[in-house]
Amino acid sequence: MDRCAQCGFEYALADAESAGPAIVVGVSQFAGLLRAGSSDLRHRTQPETWSPLEYGCHLRDVLLVQRERVLAARRIDTPSFEPMGRDERVVHDGYIDQDPGDVARQMTDAASLIRNVLARLGDADWERRVVYNHPSALERSLRWVAVHTVHEVRHHLLDVRRQLTTSADDA
Ligand SMILES: [Zn+2]
Repeated sequence: MDRCAQCGFEYALADAESAGPAIVVGVSQFAGLLRAGSSDLRHRTQPETWSPLEYGCHLRDVLLVQRERVLAARRIDTPSFEPMGRDERVVHDGYIDQDPGDVARQMTDAASLIRNVLARLGDADWERRVVYNHPSALERSLRWVAVHTVHEVRHHLLDVRRQLTTSADDA
């Protein structure tokens, strides 16, 4: 089983069927942090580390991209996914200029959208294969894609909680 060295998340592929609800719960917590309106939402603690607002925009886009990938995998045999361009989007979509309340609402909708698509996968669909190009090109199942999406939510939630806690300690 894969395990993330940074946040401790374990890739339990047998839990893929519960990924949709897990995404919704985690995103609800993330949206709550954005709605709380800390003045540090736009603050980068390090020049190369995204601010909480930028992480929120990233997570919203991850959910939308992953939803499209799941849908593609149902109609195409072993599709290969281009990287989503995580760093380019920060600039191209102007993450830092977005309104935290808007992003909270959008990520909540995005979580609901991917949950709906995941809920419609049958037993055979979960085993559909895709070529996933991050972190390296590997063939994966939709089970892995779903569990990886839960990891994205949990990992970035931890990132942002740490940032906001650190900022509060500094104040
Ligand atoms: Zn992680």
